[in-house]
Order: sequence, then structure tokens, then C-alpha cells
Amino acid sequence: MIDPILTHTNSLSFTKLFEKQQKTALLWRCSTLEERSARLIKIRTWIEKNQDFIRKSLWEDFKKPVPEVDLSEIFPVTSEINHTLNNLKSWMKPQGISTPLAMIGTSAKVYYEPKGVALIISPWNFPFNLTVGPLVSALAAGCPAIIKPSELSPATSDLIQKMVNDLFQPEEVAVFLGEADVSQELLKLPFDHIFFTGSPAVGKIVMKAAAEHLTSVTLELGGKSPAIIDESADLNDAAGKLIWGKFVNCGQTCIAPDYILVHESKKERLLMELKVFIQKYYDPEFKGIEKSQDYARIIGPKHFNRLRSYLADAVSKGATLDFGGKIDESNCYLEPTLLSGIKDNMDVFNEEIFGPILPILTFSSLEDAINLINSKPKPLALYYFGENMNSKKVIQETSSGNVVINDCVLHFLHNNLPFGGVNNSGIGKAHGHAGFLAFSNEKGVLKQRVGVNNVTLLRPPYGMKAKNIIQSLIKWF
Ligand code: NAD
Repeated sequence: MIDPILTHTNSLSFTKLFEKQQKTALLWRCSTLEERSARLIKIRTWIEKNQDFIRKSLWEDFKKPVPEVDLSEIFPVTSEINHTLNNLKSWMKPQGISTPLAMIGTSAKVYYEPKGVALIISPWNFPFNLTVGPLVSALAAGCPAIIKPSELSPATSDLIQKMVNDLFQPEEVAVFLGEADVSQELLKLPFDHIFFTGSPAVGKIVMKAAAEHLTSVTLELGGKSPAIIDESADLNDAAGKLIWGKFVNCGQTCIAPDYILVHESKKERLLMELKVFIQKYYDPEFKGIEKSQDYARIIGPKHFNRLRSYLADAVSKGATLDFGGKIDESNCYLEPTLLSGIKDNMDVFNEEIFGPILPILTFSSLEDAINLINSKPKPLALYYFGENMNSKKVIQETSSGNVVINDCVLHFLHNNLPFGGVNNSGIGKAHGHAGFLAFSNEKGVLKQRVGVNNVTLLRPPYGMKAKNIIQSLIKWF
């Protein structure tokens, strides 16, 4: 039975529950490896038993194909849990650190203390993965959590609420459903950490609210992630990877290649290869892509209309529709679409696309491509296809969340890589150890011996001896 406190989304019930979770946070400050692991294992068991329920919810929300649910919603979470279970003992262990000469006689360690009550606000595009993934990190770090999933993926948000109610007491983990006003009410509370995944615009609202309580934040945001296709790239290999990375989840992926920057001498060949792969992946029998079971839909009318207007804007300003463009409003269907002839006054050049439209821009020298990327807000991901020497130049001369060489999107699945953006694309990192650290306070503990020690000599009254020691410290240490 659902605790009545969770059915009221008002400030009183939020405060009551928050206060209960604060008590839990104090108890969990001393939680053991076994207790934290048990919480993760029960989530994994629930997922294993409810895979069909998860698949059904995502189909209901935006007809997400089952293999894509398995690969991009279930696997990342179970893999995050398994990776955490394998490493949590060493992550939790206080780390001894070496003593600098000036501090000789002391010893020091870093303790990983749970920050306390966490707020997790999540988006609709990978609604299960991007809600339960951060929850795994919070629980691993020893934090109770309140979750606010997206209102735009209601079936999956209901499923997440059911999972949490099946497994946890509300004072441990609780889910509040609702729209932006629910997040805004929750954001008034003095959480110990906020983990937000969503747009840069809402990220700013979250950070402003967090500032009121000086609450730490992890902001997993979005932006325009470019894919550079250099002169030396293997175009067939690149095209196959780009088409999957762009059109999986119907392009509604924060790290999907937002636009392609291809060397001008390779544009026509690349375009041809891209079209071949769209056909091969989504319409091998020439029945029409809309018949494919492997291509999802846009989440809802708001985003469908946004994308339709980007397309109309580009075409009206002279862009060439190289492939796709077909729409079916009643099904929120937008065909995989390739555009070229992009100008800098077009929405597709300036806004995060977050849908199945792929603009193709050209460059004549790698410097030009780098300058274009550096003229825009720092992307969440940057992809480079081509030879090694130039990839080093791109890594050094651009700033982005992550870089992938000769592939795209895959870095999300690498448990040992910190995941996240920089400035406009995000603050802080997620996944694996980085996720554990996001919910932990790295508490330095210094231990001095009792009685006389080096520092005793530095106390007042400051005689010549003390002054000489201080001068030597400045000079030598
Ligand atoms: P969004 O920012 O509109 O919404 C995210 C969450 O914030 C939802 O739960 C929503 O209810 C809540 N929210 C919306 N408006 C709010 C407000 N005014 N005040 C408080 N809360 C509010 O984002 P979205 O449309 O759900 O997701 C798309 C965005 O998320 C894209 O920009 C995408 O790049 C980004 N994203 C980033 C990552 C990442 O890992 N970095 C992953 C997925 C999506």
C-alpha cells in the first residue's frame, strides 16, 4: 500500500517526508558495506523480475523498441549495480594519503561520508536509466533520496514509483510524481545534494534554488554535441556508427551527435553512406521506415512541434533536405532526416536538436572545425572520426564533457569513465566511482600526536628560532 504521505504533492507532505529522511540520513551515516549492497541487490532483483513491465512502460511512453530498452535502459542500470557491488568496498574505505615533509609526525586519511538527503530530478528521454542510475550512486554512497521523475514519460514514472514503493520505506527512498511545480516545491528544501538531469535552462533554475541552501549539485545537462569527420576518416565505418548513435531512441539522446562537421572533400560520399545505413537499419525491405519496429517515436506533441518547426525553419532559410522529412503528427513520427546547406541563422545551427534531424556542415581545415566548436557553448560530448594525430589536436584544443574517437555515444556504457558535461553542458560527474563521489563528502581527517611536535616550535612568542623555521618552510617546502 502506498504511504498516504506520497499521494499529496504539497509542501507540507514534502517537508514531513524530508524530515523523516533526515533522520534516516543520520542512521545511514554509519551504514555498512553489507547494508548498502543489500539495497542495490534488491533493485537488481526487482529489475530482473520486471523486465517485461519496464519494456511495456517504455513502449507506452514513446514506442521504444525492446532491444533499445534492454540495451539503453536495463543494461546500464544492472551494469552500474554490478560494477558498484564489485568496487564499493574499496570506494568506502578511508584512503590513507602521504604526508608532506612540512607535516611530518602527523597522519591523514580521506573518509567518504554520505552527504545526506539527496534529491534526484530526472528527464523523460531515458527515463528508467537516468532515474535509477543516480539512485544506485546515492544508495551506494549511503544517502536516502527523494525522486522526481519526468511528467512526459508517465508510464515509466509510474513504474519507478511502483519499484521504489515495493522496495523501500518512504523515509529511505520516495518518489513524487508531477510537473515542474512539484520540483520547484521540493527545491525549496535544504537537501544535502541535488542530482539533476535535464536541459541547461532548467539546470539554471535548479542551481539558483540550490544556492539558497548552498546545496551541492550535479547537473547533467545537454547541448550540441558535434561529430567531426576528418579527411582521413573511414566513411563507411563512420556512417554506420553515426546513424545508430543519432537515431537510437529517435534522436532523443543527450549525447547523440547533434550535427556533423565533415571535410568538404568527403561530404558527398558521406551523405551517400549515411543514406545507405538509414535504409539498412530502418527499412531493409523498403516498406517505409514508419513500419519499422526498431525506430521509436517523439515523446509527445510539444517536442514533435518543436522539431517540426526546426525543420520548417531550416528549409525556409534554404537548407537542402537530403533524406527524410516525412512526418505523421498523430503518431509523433518524424523520419530520420538529413539536412545540408546549413546557415548560422537557422534553429538547427543554434538550438540543441534532441530529435531525429541531423544537419551536415562542412569544413576546409581542421582549424575551422575547431574554431566553430569553440565559438559555441561547451558540448556534452565530442566525436572525432579520423587519424590519431589530428584526434590529439582536437582533444587538446576543444573543451567538452567527453570525447570519443572513431565512435559515438558508447562512452555512456563505460563504467570507469566519469560521465558529464562542462559549464553549459553540466557540472559534476556521474557513473561508477564518480557517481559515488558525487553523493559523498570527501572528509579529510588529520591526526596529530599528543605532546611536543614540530608545530610546537612555531607558537608565540615568536623568537628567532620560530622565524627561521617559518622562513625555511617558505623556502624549502
Ligand atoms: P527538462 O529540463 O525540461 O526537465 C527535466 C526535469 O526537470 C523534469 O523532471 C521536469 O519535470 C523538471 N522541470 C522542468 N521544468 C522545471 C522547472 N521550471 N523547475 C523545476 N523543474 C523543472 O528536460 P527534459 O526535456 O526532460 O530532457 C531533455 C534535456 O535533458 C536535454 O537538454 C538533454 O540534453 C538533457 N539530458 C541530459 C542528460 C545528461 O546525462 N547530461 C541526459 C538526458 C537528457
